[in-house]
Amino acid sequence: MSVIVSRTAGFCMGVRRAMEKALEERSRTPDTLFTLGPLIHNPHVLDILRRNRVLEVSEESAEAGSRVIIRAHGVAPPVRRKLAERSCIVIDATCPKVARVQKMALRAGEAGRQVVIAGDKDHAEVRGILGHALAGGVCISTVEEARSLELDSPALLVAQTTFSEESFAEIAGALRGRHLDIEVQDTICDATSERQEEARRMALEMDAIVIVGGRTSANTRRLAEIITGLGTPAFLVEDEGEIPPEVSRYETIGVTAGASTPNWLISRVAERLVEMQARGVRWLLWRCLAFLVRSNLLVALSALALTLLSVLWQRLQPGFRVLAVPPLYLFGIHLLNTFSESQAQEINEPAQKMFMQQNRAWLMPLAWMSLGIALLLASLGSLWAGVLTASAIILGLLYQVRIPFARVQLIRIPGSKDLFTAGAWAVFTCCIPALIAEGRLLPSAFMASAIVFSITMVRALAYDLKDLQGDRMVGKETIPIYLGMRWSSVLSTSLIVLAAGLATVALALGVFPPAGALALLLPAHALVYLRLFQSRRVSGAVLFSATVDGFFPILGLLALAFLP
Ligand code: SF4
Repeated sequence: MSVIVSRTAGFCMGVRRAMEKALEERSRTPDTLFTLGPLIHNPHVLDILRRNRVLEVSEESAEAGSRVIIRAHGVAPPVRRKLAERSCIVIDATCPKVARVQKMALRAGEAGRQVVIAGDKDHAEVRGILGHALAGGVCISTVEEARSLELDSPALLVAQTTFSEESFAEIAGALRGRHLDIEVQDTICDATSERQEEARRMALEMDAIVIVGGRTSANTRRLAEIITGLGTPAFLVEDEGEIPPEVSRYETIGVTAGASTPNWLISRVAERLVEMQARGVRWLLWRCLAFLVRSNLLVALSALALTLLSVLWQRLQPGFRVLAVPPLYLFGIHLLNTFSESQAQEINEPAQKMFMQQNRAWLMPLAWMSLGIALLLASLGSLWAGVLTASAIILGLLYQVRIPFARVQLIRIPGSKDLFTAGAWAVFTCCIPALIAEGRLLPSAFMASAIVFSITMVRALAYDLKDLQGDRMVGKETIPIYLGMRWSSVLSTSLIVLAAGLATVALALGVFPPAGALALLLPAHALVYLRLFQSRRVSGAVLFSATVDGFFPILGLLALAFLP
């Protein structure tokens, strides 16, 4: 039983670029932003965009002076002229690859050649390219149309960027076979051909394929045609709620998606499929895991495990207060934060949001109780531990609110959540135990804090990368949104190297005992989960959290074996 997500599923470069331009523009002014036609062929994304002041408009109804985005499909020159006549502020998000085909059509037209496009006649991209063909253009969709096509002049054959490779090869073959004066240019985008190729491979290897995407999306429908053409059952769904129950009877299920499907929808569908496939003991295990993740109890267990490790590193006596304060504080504050993240959660993890709403009556008091007990135990353990815990609770509560007179909101500082979270993990799992047990901080406490800070920063970045597209939609300012994917990956790798280097130095200098070598497993684990995440071996919020946080309790048990 397995669910495998296609590596190439989801936003292509052109759609991602158009989305980013739209969201960037939206954040610049409070005015409504318009897109010429739907920005993306996905009803979920369009719904969120509408709620965030990004509305569809046609060239006829665009208001004078309004800000209008040309989507990735591009438009014909007359449409641009109409917008210019109305003094609209145009934000051009035409995909560079589509713009290249438009230029090819324009040059062919200037040379007096006719343009033939293999594609869908009603598709906006096709209309835009035809609009550039000065000497006239024609769209054909089937090999039969290619056989009966009449040409008045030399011609150029191009393809809609999301057209099927097979159909294009057939059409080009039919035209060449008729010895017409036609130049053939395969303009199908690499992203499309790779996606179709992977869908073909998956269709041959898996029992069934679920395709996630809007029904109006041509490239999504094309994926379904390719898969059913190979005799493999294909199910096209727009979200996890549309998965038919019969899918669960297949042993191996592949998940692919069109170019306009966001990652969060793919992830939600994959998670639902894993849940539907689980039976008997597996189902029980899945429910337990989902409960641990959604209730934040896995966070508490991870905090306890890192505290055990830090106690081992610092050669501290593992008393009750030493071990209880970190998980209580981190559990309480994470739980309160989960309650307040409603908009992003609705997109990224609707199952978690529903869990929080259904269990609010006992989870909310539990969060406050955990914080209260953490403060009490820390204060009884040491004055400084009490002061630090009280400050951390106040900071955690102030994080989301506008600070009076200062006119700042900490949550609005890019990356602040990751820095605060990693800082809290470092202070609570390393400094607070040392203050309670010894009343002071030794060099081992600083070394341990630096390692935990690096590792939990990587953890926070991994969560941000998972939620990148959803966070961007609601205007969250995380480090990956600020730095971009590439630099965030560089930052993660640097932090992993830093953690490994610090652990090695601490062991070599005798700051940590030899058993503290368990520290080296932390960066190794981070490398593994980042790799799994990049290759899409792990999808869905529950499995992701289990992979990232589930290793800490195992490490905690190992540390326990070396403690006095
Ligand atoms: S499929 Fe390719 S050409 Fe079309 S918008 Fe996406 S990246 Fe651009």
